Amino acid sequence: MMNMMSMTRNIRAAIAGALLLSVVALGLVATGCGGGSSADGSSAGDVPVIAVTTPILGAVVQAAVGDRASVEVVMPNGADPHEWQPSAQDVARIQGADLIVQNGLGLEAGLAKAIEQAKADGVPVFTATDHIDVRTVKAGEGADPSDEDQAPGAKDPHFWTDPTQVRAVVQALPAAVSSATGADIAQSAAAYEKELSGVDARAAALLGAVPPAARGIVTGHESLGYLARRYEYRLVGAIMPSLSSQGQLSAAHLADLEAAMKAAGVRVVFTEKGTSPQVAAAIADATGATVVELATEALPADGSYVTYMDDIARRIASALANTGGR
Ligand SMILES: [Zn+2]
Repeated sequence: MMNMMSMTRNIRAAIAGALLLSVVALGLVATGCGGGSSADGSSAGDVPVIAVTTPILGAVVQAAVGDRASVEVVMPNGADPHEWQPSAQDVARIQGADLIVQNGLGLEAGLAKAIEQAKADGVPVFTATDHIDVRTVKAGEGADPSDEDQAPGAKDPHFWTDPTQVRAVVQALPAAVSSATGADIAQSAAAYEKELSGVDARAAALLGAVPPAARGIVTGHESLGYLARRYEYRLVGAIMPSLSSQGQLSAAHLADLEAAMKAAGVRVVFTEKGTSPQVAAAIADATGATVVELATEALPADGSYVTYMDDIARRIASALANTGGR
């Protein structure tokens, strides 16, 4: 009885989930293009399905493909991509897609096996970070060179904090979508590229207004390297000195971080999903810094990457603008 009921519930949940995803996808289109009818779901069966691993990348792909494909985002918004694990249903969805779009460079560690399997079964995979100018960790940036996410030369997966890298991915997408699904997204992708140039210009204006001495960044983990590279900020350190949020904390590292913050006059600690609030509070206490939350790996309420990047740039600029530095 229980089993029957829960089976029925699972099937219902799966159907509801599928419906919800297409509604969310349509909602994103409506947001991106300023309206249009999203009530008509009749063509949902005809368009190819693109499975995208993370919400931010999903929003980008959705904006680029417009109504030429149905985008299914695998990870729920707000999840930590470094540690998220798929359910059997998620794996099935990935394997049933016409094209898989992944971030790559180890960001979606929990999905790697499912994506490899789908690839082996013939599902085409587009890896966003194959199309960007990859940032690598420089000597002295990580605290533990024996950790593969901190060693000099480690490749940074967080490319979306630089809109010009996102634009490079969007530029590469039409060829991949066309060859995998036959859909022609050239027009919508080109329009979105223009929009991304606007995002970059706004971020450059906001972040460029912060005095150079105040441009030291401390984050929960090393998530803002691309933003720092693009807009000439300095990575002073991270609570988790790692490209993954799943690194190890040590008292010695935290003492080093506090010293580096004091030396650089850093007065703000940006915390993220997965940052220990206790550790952040202790660092703030020891250095006189303010803790500012930053959703570096989640979409804002309107589901738009454009809003995401505008928000990040504005929050960083306003937090740092008046903190001095020296
Ligand atoms: Zn991260």
